Amino acid sequence: MTATRPQPLVGPASYDTVVIGAGLAGLTAALRLAEAGQRVAVLAKGVGATHIAPPTIDVLGYAGGPVGSPAQALPEFTAANPEHPYRQLSIDLLGDSLDWFKARLGDHGYRGGLDENFFVPTAIGVAKPTALLPETMAAGDLRRGGRFVFVGLRGLKDFFPAYLAENVARAPVPGDASVTTRVVELAPPLGEARDVSSAGFARRFERADFRESVLAALGRNLVPGELVGFPAVLGLGGAREVWRELEARLGHQVFEVPTLPPSVPGIRVWETMTSALRRQGARLVIGSTAAGAEMSNGRLEGVVAHNAGRPLTYRARSFVLATGGFPSAGLELDFSGQVREPVFDLPLAGLPGQNEPRFATDYFDEHALSRAGVAVDASRRPVNLEGAPVYENLYAAGATLAGAVPWREGSGNGLSLGSGYAAASAILEAA
Ligand SMILES: Cc1cc2nc3c(=O)[nH]c(=O)nc-3n(C[C@H](O)[C@H](O)[C@H](O)COP(=O)(O)OP(=O)(O)OC[C@H]3O[C@@H](n4cnc5c(N)ncnc54)[C@H](O)[C@@H]3O)c2cc1C
Repeated sequence: MTATRPQPLVGPASYDTVVIGAGLAGLTAALRLAEAGQRVAVLAKGVGATHIAPPTIDVLGYAGGPVGSPAQALPEFTAANPEHPYRQLSIDLLGDSLDWFKARLGDHGYRGGLDENFFVPTAIGVAKPTALLPETMAAGDLRRGGRFVFVGLRGLKDFFPAYLAENVARAPVPGDASVTTRVVELAPPLGEARDVSSAGFARRFERADFRESVLAALGRNLVPGELVGFPAVLGLGGAREVWRELEARLGHQVFEVPTLPPSVPGIRVWETMTSALRRQGARLVIGSTAAGAEMSNGRLEGVVAHNAGRPLTYRARSFVLATGGFPSAGLELDFSGQVREPVFDLPLAGLPGQNEPRFATDYFDEHALSRAGVAVDASRRPVNLEGAPVYENLYAAGATLAGAVPWREGSGNGLSLGSGYAAASAILEAA
């Protein structure tokens, strides 16, 4: 007997679930539901933070100070932050979401879990705590200490190896292992090009002749035992093979360091998840802006989306709002300081009082608006000010949720993955 996959519908017909947003939260919810046999459509104005943010899944990096073990720190963290969305996501569920993600991203060999954070260099040399990372970044774990050499590629835009190396050498890291750093600058052949983006280098690294030139120039510059950090441009789909070849032929451990946007390893995550969605028969409509709903008797019947200026109604039994926070316009702030959720005009939580300031004076301070967003009930449904679900079949996930300050907590992708996974579980239970 052959299993039949749901066939993609070609128009704005009726689906089991329509997911709005194609960031990590939306893709996670959509893929889980499609894998469970649902007919799923994903509507998105554009790509999400995957294309600009590192691909690491940071669950909880900071709680007073750097967190060594998310599993150990989370109970105290959620007790101290009762409005935080992690309060409604159990440690078991977060662990399940990480395992699910690792299995889906098998081609990139994701490693880690909730028990301990890795501490890996960011593009500017901060030792960032993260729960899960692709295999190509694992050897950059600074907790083990060692002699690190960072490779600069002349012509690569927005990557500054000397600055990175200087900061890594003095970055505080748990344990007392010693870290030394230095830089090797290479000038690989770029033809006529002067400035090349991360994505441009990634395409070049997938070519054998380009790798040969890098290996030839780098090999004679390394000292035995050094750990070699490349900017995260070692290919797109074939990155793991490129990384393996570099390790084998250099005879050194090699790791990738995230670059400033665009994020090549984030694009790998997007490509893997959207390909899996298509294989499951889901429909992906990029360039589609949701801006309104059709409803009856407390249920959403359809979401109205504008594709190339034409409004179309996508009907479904359930809907997931995963439109992100302010950066993706999942939340909007108008000139008078009012915050709005623009698709369903949902009630918002985490807002400062009428006469309270909305912003702190320093950029890196916690701004009063940081925790604004949609509050949800235990079934992941947005609630009104009385705590009742606004629609019985609308669910929310990701950076649009109220109560978190992801960049301060180091919780962005962990929260989007965990809440996207939980929204799918709630829909499957309700069904
Ligand atoms: C520069 C940067 C660096 C970061 N670094 C880290 C990091 O190191 N570690 C970490 O864990 N997190 C990091 N984060 C945070 C993390 O990436 C995000 O919190 C998380 O990925 C958000 O995922 P999401 O799916 O909720 O939203 P997003 O990724 O923002 O996706 C939102 C989606 O909704 C779509 N959308 C919005 N409005 C509409 C609409 N009306 N109709 C249709 N579609 C719509 C968007 O086009 C997009 O597809 C970083 C974020 C940024 C911006």
